[in-house]
Amino acid sequence: MTRVLDTTPLPWHRERWQQAVALFKSGSAGHAYLLSGEADTGKRYFAMMLAEYLLCRQPSAEAACARCSVCLLNAAGNNPDMLSIEPEEGSKQIKVDQIREIRQFLETRSHGFGKRVIILDTAENLGISSANALLKGLEEPPQDVIFLLISDRPKAVLATISSRTQVFRLPRPERSDVLAWLLFSGAAQSAADLELIIDLAQGRPFVARAILDSGTAAHLQEIGDTLLALAQGNDYPVAVASRYSKSQCTELLGVLLYWLSELSKHRLTGATTLLKGQSLRAAASLLQAAGTDDKPPAAAQTHALLRLYSAVAAAQGQMIGSSNPNTQLMLEDLLLQMRRIFLKG
Ligand SMILES: [Zn+2]
Repeated sequence: MTRVLDTTPLPWHRERWQQAVALFKSGSAGHAYLLSGEADTGKRYFAMMLAEYLLCRQPSAEAACARCSVCLLNAAGNNPDMLSIEPEEGSKQIKVDQIREIRQFLETRSHGFGKRVIILDTAENLGISSANALLKGLEEPPQDVIFLLISDRPKAVLATISSRTQVFRLPRPERSDVLAWLLFSGAAQSAADLELIIDLAQGRPFVARAILDSGTAAHLQEIGDTLLALAQGNDYPVAVASRYSKSQCTELLGVLLYWLSELSKHRLTGATTLLKGQSLRAAASLLQAAGTDDKPPAAAQTHALLRLYSAVAAAQGQMIGSSNPNTQLMLEDLLLQMRRIFLKG
């Protein structure tokens, strides 16, 4: 599939990008780098852009030209001088036949005019036998090959591998960077809605992007309204559970978890400025009103909120794991607990 080559670094990588370009221009670059940084913050984007820059026949001062024959091959995803390896869908390990691809790549020569690049995402998922196959290439690299390894957990990369690479750390974005990037890349939501999505994504830009792309963003407001109705006693745990248990259980749990974390912070600090979304703000004042008879009110509520938070987090774990939970019963139980907090205070 042909794509448009990326020629602009992510805003939070700009400085590191300029350093990388300067390094390779200076001729003093090494042959193997371990790009490290937090998950879902754009390491792979950086690696691809760097590979395309290194392979381009007539790069501009800062990026690949996106027009030359090599760039066109890269855009089509079939440049024989670029090998990109990542765990296959549903698997965490790099498989043996993928390592065989690396071996074959190392044994052939450049089809073009210069460098060749291997991108390996994610380096911590190399088993010992796979690592051994890669090791030979890292120890005696063909002159034209550059290795770009990617890892969220550089310390978990086998030492035999990491000791033969130079670590190139990529920073995580500031919240404002993520917001600006989402707006710039055409997100149709308001800044306030995007703020909520960024929170749900725990500040990780590519998770936020995935939420937007999956179309779930449109449902977030609706889920917030549902939770508020439940808190107000206008909707019922069994009814809500049956509406959400089939297809939107994960989303409901995600928003509920977010609510519980924000509401407990709110009860601890009293600050309302950080509460995002109308329904969440309404729920916070409801909670405050419900708690006034308790002594001390905020402490009891915070305790209940945090206990429920753990239960929701555990339920999320079950959804991800293979235990195949009864989502209807699970949601009923959690929503009932939530309602009690609001009704009793
Ligand atoms: Zn080019």
